[in-house]
Amino acid sequence: MKKITGVMYSYYFLCKRKLWLFAHDINMEQESEAVFIGKLIDESTYKRENKHILIDDTINIDYINNGIVCEVKKSKKEKQMAINQIKYYLYILQQHNLMHIKGRLVIPKERISEDVELSEQDSCQIEENLQAINEILNLSVPPSTDKKAACKSCAYYEFCYI
Ligand code: SF4
Repeated sequence: MKKITGVMYSYYFLCKRKLWLFAHDINMEQESEAVFIGKLIDESTYKRENKHILIDDTINIDYINNGIVCEVKKSKKEKQMAINQIKYYLYILQQHNLMHIKGRLVIPKERISEDVELSEQDSCQIEENLQAINEILNLSVPPSTDKKAACKSCAYYEFCYI
């Protein structure tokens, strides 16, 4: 079974095709303007924090503040997706017996700081999602395109539509 990284987990909510392409090492993210903006925010905010903590080669936590796992996003456009991603981080930490750790979504540009917790129900849902993700990854061809708002800023846009 392939390791499901935090990025892959969040792509599951964004686009199944994107998830498949990324997991099969078809990677165009370095050309994306959205990714460039994300990196700029990353480099210019929270300079004093200990950033990018890689756990189990699976999740890459933006930074930890007072024991709280913090994830920084550039806008609240994909807020629910970010919350799902943080819950996945908490789930992976629980697999390493790091229980009762909280998460926080931080959107500096919009002055948003929202705490995130993992419930038992969330953990069950994550296990179902992981199963569904594995089914997608095992497909021999990528899921078909599904035009949506996210396509406009997606690094795979040309790959999908041009
Ligand atoms: S362009 Fe749209 S359909 Fe293609 S991978 Fe990106 S989000 Fe998915």
